[in-house]
Amino acid sequence: MQAAPTADLNEAERARILAKAALFAPPPATLPDGRRDLVGLSREELVAEMVAIGEKPFRAKQLWHWIYHQGVTDFSQMSTIAKAMQGKLAERFVVGRPGATAEQTSTDGTRKWLFGFRDGQQVETVYIPDPEEDRGAVCISTQVGCTLSCRFCHTGTQKLVRNLGAAEIVGQFMAARDSYGEWPSPTDGTPRLLSTIVIMGMGEPLYNYENVAKAMRIIMDGEGIALSRRRITLSTSGVVPMMDRCGAELGVGLAVSLHAVRNDIRDEIVPLNRKYPIEELMAACRRYPGASNARRITFEYVMLKGVNDSEADARELVRLLQGIPAKVNLIPFNPWPGSPYETSSNNAIHRFARIVQEAGYASPIRTPRGRDILAACGQLKTESERARRPRAEGGAPATPPASAA
Ligand code: SAH
Ligand code: SF4
Repeated sequence: MQAAPTADLNEAERARILAKAALFAPPPATLPDGRRDLVGLSREELVAEMVAIGEKPFRAKQLWHWIYHQGVTDFSQMSTIAKAMQGKLAERFVVGRPGATAEQTSTDGTRKWLFGFRDGQQVETVYIPDPEEDRGAVCISTQVGCTLSCRFCHTGTQKLVRNLGAAEIVGQFMAARDSYGEWPSPTDGTPRLLSTIVIMGMGEPLYNYENVAKAMRIIMDGEGIALSRRRITLSTSGVVPMMDRCGAELGVGLAVSLHAVRNDIRDEIVPLNRKYPIEELMAACRRYPGASNARRITFEYVMLKGVNDSEADARELVRLLQGIPAKVNLIPFNPWPGSPYETSSNNAIHRFARIVQEAGYASPIRTPRGRDILAACGQLKTESERARRPRAEGGAPATPPASAA
């Protein structure tokens, strides 16, 4: 049988990827004064924190409601919790948010934040409002920098500094909601201004899988933010072994940064292709659970003049997509300072789109948003750099939980 060796290989690769991710782990979620951030804990961990300070598990349920449904950051506003208990919690814990170092709003309404974390590292987060309706997508970052260096991507010029923790990933969405005052979390069918999440900011989410998965579970939890997995799309440059796990465990929508239909070209513009070539990537898409006409896989295709935008490329794309419920997002290349490419001509983009469309695939041409504030796809980058000296072997000293102090 063919299947077993592939599965074993994938398992070994996954172990290697997770081990590497751990080397870039975020700093511990404890303040210098010993208080611990409750944001980013799973429900089980929150229960454990309560039990550790001699409280009943139901406290965790109450806190979850205040933190993720009401959006409250101050224990004294948690009105179903007695005053004395509020004080006890405030001595030991905080409900944190990343701090907005900068906020810019584009002429088209797109808003970009530069969020800073406790160790001084920063990422960018973008809100892209729908031009016609009161809804929009929050584009979230998962790493400071990126290990991959796709030739057309600004983030790719920034070395990976570290992975973001679950609190920092959830925190971007919560802070964006703060900015628009969208609390408490709208329930049932009530429309949301911040209605979808696209994991398409800085970094490769599947190289930080554990933290991304934990963050998404928190965001999808029905008693808190309660955003459905149908409203979340994760974009990957093609980390094949982790795509299977993402599909099985999270079931969020998948976007794949394809960008080229021949291995020689993709090897050059998406260097990860040398490891997971197009055939393997497409096979992983075919395996992606839940892909159906209602839940198509999005293929992202950045239009680079003279590189990947010919009619032959479009026809080859159609051939590759055969049998996959797919939609193709054609993204006019967004330039950034020093970028080595040009955007394809309007004609070339439309010609390409027509061929894909005639084969039965939706192929919208993405309107660039927020270019004036460098908030469009592939333009995000921060000044954060890797600390000159890496942390001593063995990592930072474990900080005892506040309860043990
Ligand atoms: N690392 C993940 C997610 C972040 S990138 C990934 O690569 O999929 C989000 C999308 O923007 C990707 O499809 C990426 O290829 C695309 N992109 C990167 N640079 C771009 C640029 N300069 N212009 C247009 N799209 C770009
Ligand atoms: Fe990293 Fe995605 Fe940019 Fe490639 S396109 S360098 S994977 S962030």
